[in-house]
Amino acid sequence: MGSWYKRSTPIISFKEGKSLLRNFLVYGKKGLTINPYQGCHHRCGYCYATYQWSPEFYDHIYTKINAANLLYNELKKAKKISCPVMISSATDAYQPAEIKYGITRECVKLLQKFGVPYYIFTKSTIIERDFELHKQYSNNCFIVWSITTCDDIVKRIIEPGTPNSNSIFKVIKRFAKGGVNCAINIDPIMPFITDSKYNLEKILDYAAANGVGYVSSGILRLRSDIWKRVQFILHTLHKEDVIKQYMQIYNINDFTITKNSLLVDNEYSYNILDLVKNECRKRSLQYRFPNLIYKTNHDLTNENSRAVTLLDYIK
Ligand code: SF4
Repeated sequence: MGSWYKRSTPIISFKEGKSLLRNFLVYGKKGLTINPYQGCHHRCGYCYATYQWSPEFYDHIYTKINAANLLYNELKKAKKISCPVMISSATDAYQPAEIKYGITRECVKLLQKFGVPYYIFTKSTIIERDFELHKQYSNNCFIVWSITTCDDIVKRIIEPGTPNSNSIFKVIKRFAKGGVNCAINIDPIMPFITDSKYNLEKILDYAAANGVGYVSSGILRLRSDIWKRVQFILHTLHKEDVIKQYMQIYNINDFTITKNSLLVDNEYSYNILDLVKNECRKRSLQYRFPNLIYKTNHDLTNENSRAVTLLDYIK
């Protein structure tokens, strides 16, 4: 079970895809996503994307070498793009392979060229290479930084392939001060691992000190494979004593945790999310995302009421 946790360098291969822009449903609304890579170097134990690609998700990264060509052709053919594009839903587009191959950078340039707004979700510092690129499009893009903890000892165990929190916040500061729309998404909050008031306050302190305006958060959802990794994490952190409490707040028994995700119980969820909201208020951080007015060459108004928003993508 600990194999996902070993900090080994993944194999990198190339893959030619047939399409890049993918439709997906976000709470009944149409969303669009691109994933320049398959698999992820960041090795987060709580990762929801592993299910589709495991067991090699963390160990074998496929670089979609023809991604920019595909995207160019798709954007050229598209009469309209009905919503902002999410980069990316099932990998981190700024993982280490991006330094060498630059696939994400080429895709971002194309989205800008065709006037398409985009959101980027990342927990990487590699995005700093493209600071000027995003800055020149700052009214039309939004960067969401996924931060789960500022405790780098815990971080090494729950997401061993990610950079340390200080270096991430240095990059966030540069983007936020540079006028790029930035948000912090504290997701997932892992019960008994990253849910302490101290940890949540520290993330919010860093967010406020580094110029981030918007915050969101969510509690870990459990699936059978994620639950196995969470138990490994609890053992590694010498927190075996809370396994029973986990089972209670997720109402787990051996038969109920299968393919579907389990949500934590309402009381736990309410208490933690309420804490985050209150602490945001104290720091003048907004626990919401703005409705951005996108500039676009495409008709985003056609299905306006049905158009996906940032909040839809992350909730
Ligand atoms: S960065 Fe995202 S996609 Fe990559 S392992 Fe972590 S949760 Fe999964």
